[in-house]
Amino acid sequence: MIMLMKKFLWLAVLLLTSTIAHAELSLDQEQAFGKELKRLFASEALVPLYTRIGDHEIWMYESVDHLRSAGPTMGFSSQSVTPKICGFYVPYSRYKPFFAFVHDNMQLQSAESKQRIVAHEMMHALDYEVLKVSMSQEFKAEFDKDMNNIKKIQGKATGEQHKTNAKVLQVFAYYLAKPEEAWAEAAARAIFPPSNTKDRDNFEKILKNVVAYARAKLIAEKLVITRPASARK
Ligand SMILES: [Zn+2]
Repeated sequence: MIMLMKKFLWLAVLLLTSTIAHAELSLDQEQAFGKELKRLFASEALVPLYTRIGDHEIWMYESVDHLRSAGPTMGFSSQSVTPKICGFYVPYSRYKPFFAFVHDNMQLQSAESKQRIVAHEMMHALDYEVLKVSMSQEFKAEFDKDMNNIKKIQGKATGEQHKTNAKVLQVFAYYLAKPEEAWAEAAARAIFPPSNTKDRDNFEKILKNVVAYARAKLIAEKLVITRPASARK
């Protein structure tokens, strides 16, 4: 079955009005997904970030195959689409930078993960279009420090320890592959820390310098909503 790509421009009205642009349409799967994404983008914690990056078009794809097949038309490399991809920020395209989300993969995620995925993609837009963090020498130096630490620790580790470390590193391999991925995930986690403490702690341990840099940057740019200590649970 061929599903045509549907383009939704509701983000343009997202924060200006509570009207849902397609509310009058029937509630099929795509509409539900559109609504879900809208809710995730409109999360209170992301308001400062959203304000900073401005409106972007969001394209929804049913599956990875659909996203891949759109590559040539949309001007991105189909090879950059990994099988488990949920969200995608496309800066280099024939159009303006845009976000893409894959319905089938997103539906496999927990509510918490979905929220972080949206934040992660928004952090790419912030990086590429506004702050230019991941391409800066300053950030790359922090990233390199973490990469060197990993090498040093794994260089010394032997036997079971080496295997255990390698398994943990494999979980985060995607974020360790490129400075921009490390930035986007560290910044997204600064806003939505995983409730799984093992996941959270491992990431923060492996990317210690990147995490510290990302947090400081978000605070300096007033992109984190900090509540008074008394309001915290
Ligand atoms: Zn990413």
